[in-house]
Amino acid sequence: MFDITPIPAFADNYIWLLKSERSPEVAVVDPGDAAPVLERLRREQLSLGAILITHHHRDHTGGISRLKAAFPNSRVYGPAHETIPEITDPLSEGGEIQLPWQGDSLRVFDMPGHTAGHIAYVGDGLLFCGDLLFAGGCGRVFDGTMAQMAASLQRIAQLPAETLLYCAHEYTLDNLGFAHWVEPENQAIQERQRSTQTARQQGKPTVPSLLSLELKTNPFLRTRIPVVIAAAERWAGESLNGNVARFTALRMWKDRDYD
Ligand code: ZN
Ligand code: FE
Repeated sequence: MFDITPIPAFADNYIWLLKSERSPEVAVVDPGDAAPVLERLRREQLSLGAILITHHHRDHTGGISRLKAAFPNSRVYGPAHETIPEITDPLSEGGEIQLPWQGDSLRVFDMPGHTAGHIAYVGDGLLFCGDLLFAGGCGRVFDGTMAQMAASLQRIAQLPAETLLYCAHEYTLDNLGFAHWVEPENQAIQERQRSTQTARQQGKPTVPSLLSLELKTNPFLRTRIPVVIAAAERWAGESLNGNVARFTALRMWKDRDYD
């Protein structure tokens, strides 16, 4: 096992720092900015062995070149199907990486939707999911498709319920506001809104989140629940057949009327 802590960046990004007591070499996930990472490494006297990238957006890749300049031997892992020039080890479905210390590895899932080549890193009971799923919500669909996004989210839903989801942004409170629009009667959502508000007032991150809680409160994982289907159909003004149509209506509803 290894330690995972967030390095806050920009207004609401989390860069995940992975370290083990077995080595002074660490890994970071999605360093959009190098400065807070370099600062943390300096303070804890760590060196960088690996950079893991989920997708090509600048707020996830912007720090790579400066980090690589500071630690020229570090590996840069990232999606094979996106153009990120600094990548040394392109990865896709079925790939596996060794963390910079003995005995821990992560596997790779293709999880397109937010972007067309988005990947996620899967470990023992955890998932680094980039901008695919957020606590209480999901990423917007940019260069992927609604069908891809719906399928990737369904794949997350199939993981063990105790899986910890390490996403890249602190959007939880905002997302739960939309979840409450979709399901005004859902007690678990209301409870989560309260606990999230408290955590944020205390300056605490609300990520990682537990998949079991997402399954109860995240509308984008609940597209098979009758109340959610009914709400999506009300918004769309027509009956929606199949998971993709229901997901698409929810995503468009949030994009157009909520955000
Ligand atoms: Zn993104
Ligand atoms: Fe992002």
